[in-house]
Amino acid sequence: MNTMKLCCLNQSQLKGLKNELLILHEQLQADLQAEQSDQQEELRQLNCTEVLDRSEAAAVTGHNLTSLSHIKQLEEEIRECQNALQRIESGHYGCCEQCGEVIELNRLMANPAAVLCVGCQSRDELHRTRGSASCF
Ligand SMILES: [Zn+2]
Repeated sequence: MNTMKLCCLNQSQLKGLKNELLILHEQLQADLQAEQSDQQEELRQLNCTEVLDRSEAAAVTGHNLTSLSHIKQLEEEIRECQNALQRIESGHYGCCEQCGEVIELNRLMANPAAVLCVGCQSRDELHRTRGSASCF
């Protein structure tokens, strides 16, 4: 299990991508906090004295579903960032999580949190869109 293959990334590329991930992570956290406090503010205005869980909150506010799914999306992106950072630490960054193939550098530059190669990602997305059709 200790095949430390850094794929085709050299140290400086890795460092650059790690930096981007850290910045991205920070931004996402800030976005999430802003979004959450917005939502709390909205709930306060609705005179909700009790702490509601998110699905209840959505039911109460109704129109708030967009920001709710935005929060979910932000949380997911944060998880992906953390995952990618962990993979950098463990030396597995840059390899596809599913098939183990090298992820193209261009792809990593565009999305440093990518853990799947293009092929696996598109299969994954196909799967997801089929699974939850009427999302929008
Ligand atoms: Zn793959």
